[in-house]
Amino acid sequence: MIRQYQLVEQVRAYDPSTDEDALNKAFVYTVKMHGSQKRASGDPYFSHPVEVAGILAGMKLDWKTIAAGLLHDTLEDTLATHDELEKQFGKDITRLVDGVTKLSQLEVQGAAAKQGENFRKLVLAMSEDIRVLLIKLADRMHNMRTLHFIKDPEKRQRIARETLELYAPLAERIGISRIKEELQDIAFGELYPDVHDSITKRMATLKEDNENISIVDRVINDVKEKLTEGGLPDADVYGREKRPYSIWRKMERLHVGFEALADIVAFRVLVENIEQCYQALGIIHGAYRAVPELFDDYISNPKPNGYRSLHTTVIGPEKRRIEIQIRTHEMHEINEMGVAAHWAYKQQTGAAKEGEQYRWLRQLLEILENSQQPEEFLEHTKLELFQDQVFCFTPKGELVALPRGGTPVDFAYAVHSRVGDSTVGAKVNSRMVPLNHVLKNGDQVEIMRSKKQAPSPTWERFVVTGKARAHIRKYLRQQQRDEYSSLGKAMLQKVFESEGATFTEKGIHGILKKFKSPADDDLYARIGAGSLPAREVFYAIFPGLKDKKPVESEPVSVNKASKGVAKISGIPIRGLIPGMALHLARCCHPVVGDRIVGIITTGKGVTAHTIDCETLESFADMPERWLDLSWDSDSVAAAEVQTGRLSVQISQATGALSALTTTIAKHDASIVNLKVVGRTPDVMDLLLDIQVKDLRHLTNIMAAIRATEHVFGVERVKGK
Ligand code: MN
Repeated sequence: MIRQYQLVEQVRAYDPSTDEDALNKAFVYTVKMHGSQKRASGDPYFSHPVEVAGILAGMKLDWKTIAAGLLHDTLEDTLATHDELEKQFGKDITRLVDGVTKLSQLEVQGAAAKQGENFRKLVLAMSEDIRVLLIKLADRMHNMRTLHFIKDPEKRQRIARETLELYAPLAERIGISRIKEELQDIAFGELYPDVHDSITKRMATLKEDNENISIVDRVINDVKEKLTEGGLPDADVYGREKRPYSIWRKMERLHVGFEALADIVAFRVLVENIEQCYQALGIIHGAYRAVPELFDDYISNPKPNGYRSLHTTVIGPEKRRIEIQIRTHEMHEINEMGVAAHWAYKQQTGAAKEGEQYRWLRQLLEILENSQQPEEFLEHTKLELFQDQVFCFTPKGELVALPRGGTPVDFAYAVHSRVGDSTVGAKVNSRMVPLNHVLKNGDQVEIMRSKKQAPSPTWERFVVTGKARAHIRKYLRQQQRDEYSSLGKAMLQKVFESEGATFTEKGIHGILKKFKSPADDDLYARIGAGSLPAREVFYAIFPGLKDKKPVESEPVSVNKASKGVAKISGIPIRGLIPGMALHLARCCHPVVGDRIVGIITTGKGVTAHTIDCETLESFADMPERWLDLSWDSDSVAAAEVQTGRLSVQISQATGALSALTTTIAKHDASIVNLKVVGRTPDVMDLLLDIQVKDLRHLTNIMAAIRATEHVFGVERVKGK
């Protein structure tokens, strides 16, 4: 275990801003808090956070990250509290420890929660500061190094699988291949000990040689000689064994065994700058025959995680196929250490100023977001994908990914359209929320359902997923179709009646084919929606009547035919065909007591206007579209409030507006909309929508307004 003074010395050497006292204090604090707790290895528990801090120091991370590494288990496993940490070590360090603790708690989620890529994205999204993830990875690294101390084989395997599926890909995502590879190999050895062993043995035999010097060394010498001759005497050349896990993956992927040196060793050439990379490539391609299809230029086209290098495969010395990777020292450092390397580089060049310290991180994230090589890592979608997403859980722990801004309704439809259609309410983290509540990462969402519930048109205003929107629209369309269908049937019956003919279902069935309608409902709906004139259908059944003079000019009597009372917003209206969609016109805002008339509108159903509404003039020569409507006086008392529109002119004096609103409030009505439509130095012209019980209520209010101080005039607004 690394000693306290060694750790502090090591950090201070690369991070001059180190607060030695604080780092020492964190060391002592973690030793004290973990006290006599023990690891599975029998070591004192505090050896774990100290080793984690050592791993982070090896990555040359800033001193605050090292301090947070020392403290990373204190919140979860000791009596330490958030407040106490903040008092002792400040906000930054506490925030990091807090983030690591949250990630650790996620691990406790059931197996169903861990659905591969989604879960990885959740972890990334939750570690808003990438240093949180770096600490978590160092934590996992040390736990994997000491995995063999755990006695329960099932627990070992679970941890190994989680490492392989979650943490190794995360390490790869942020470019830290050194950690990725070590995690993968320990996990691989745990999960598939036999395969691991046989691959390791096979690698050893391939590298062996009968002569005094190994094949690998002979190749290195040969390549180095060629580079020196070509003018690059300072290039570093070495052979790097591939990891058993990556060999195994390749064998699985390509269904091949491994035979050639290129399968187990990659030779690396490290040079000073990019020009030398291409120069080295030229020398190597000049000296050996290249395998063209195995050349990759990741310098011009970096991998999504920032990896840069030239890869080429040549027939090398002794006719052996060898793979050579060419890169600069800086690229190499970044390829190995990913985001962590950037920090070290900034420190070295002294470019890091207070506050700018993490600009590299933003820059790297930008590079990751903007790079376009999805084929590189099929399983690794671009970073921006999860930045636009939130991840929530069902009560059973299943993970549901939604676009940012997603609501419980989106969540419900994402689970199943039947769940969406029957949603009545939602609980987020056990608390009731409105259905338009915006969900956050890690929320647990419980949907309350009722069979009686139906999708509401208001949902369409806040849902963000296409699936939810499509289902809501589909339901509303079906509902509208039903309305059109009963309206169309009634319209057709009216025509039959006016022609003195008897309406029969049988007659309708006989002509369905002619209009290419699959069912009578469909035919009625087309009539109701206005796309098929009712009279045309009638003449199809009685072609002989077509030559007769049309009857449009005769008044159509609908009162006899339609005795139904429809209720719209609780307003009883006589004269309406049951099932017909009714709207109160927005131009004249009829209220109970007004004389009203209905207009059948294409694609809309029936709109009720006041008898003196200007809009009616445009329907003067279309009597077939008129319906006589009246208020059902028997149940008017039970009617709900409705909206009347007034035009009011008041003075610009202070208090004029409040006098007006007070008058309206005193009469038990509420203003639902107020708009200033004109202004002169003396007069303000207002448009008011107020909710009233009926015409008498409205008339009373108008009288009261007229009597109010500062009011010049008031009148009903009807028509456009
Ligand atoms: Mn830990």
